Amino acid sequence: MKIKVLKNVFQRNDNAARENRELLDARGVTCVNLLGGAGAGKTSLLEAVIPVLRDSLRMGVLEGDLATTKDATRVDALGVPVIQLLTDGGCHLTATLVQQGLRRLPLDGLDMLLIENVGNPICPAGFDLGEHLRISVLSVTEGDDKAAKYPLLFKDADLIVLSKCDLQPLTDFDFNTVTRDLRRINRRAEILQTQARRAIGTEALATWLLDRCRPSSAASRE
Ligand code: MG
Ligand code: ZN
Repeated sequence: MKIKVLKNVFQRNDNAARENRELLDARGVTCVNLLGGAGAGKTSLLEAVIPVLRDSLRMGVLEGDLATTKDATRVDALGVPVIQLLTDGGCHLTATLVQQGLRRLPLDGLDMLLIENVGNPICPAGFDLGEHLRISVLSVTEGDDKAAKYPLLFKDADLIVLSKCDLQPLTDFDFNTVTRDLRRINRRAEILQTQARRAIGTEALATWLLDRCRPSSAASRE
């Protein structure tokens, strides 16, 4: 019985994810799911790339959080449409909640939608939101054992960002260990090192996003 209930939960999520992807495809919006633990630096990465990209791409943001609008307030200051998705204590975003956010965004006016997932290195990775791309973030302050400990976070990532690299000298974070572990989990994702506070590596992240935005929507803007 329990197994059946779990199966239904995932099935419902997968159905909603498929609907989300179809809607985004129809509107020509490229959707990115940004995943990582609490304090990995996801919002800071958004704050770094949105000002670089907002002149070339029409961007929107869905902010996932448990209880506050702190991150959405930071993103709102960048002048792009943002909707706060509150999970009411839930530890991950679901495709159904994202669906509600999509209804409130001006999708026809967007080229790219960035979804910041709830800060949690575990279960958000198990929920397809209907995104086209996944970016998984690991900060050096979390420790170099975390790639091996949370493989699901990195397994389906299209890009892996190692963040807060300016703090590495204060830690014993070993890039070789992490890179070796990540390569065992995911051979195809690019690995990018960033220092958002100094705008190092964030230009490369912006370029990565721009390169993956659908050509159709890029052409339709001209
Ligand atoms: Mg955040
Ligand atoms: Zn969860």
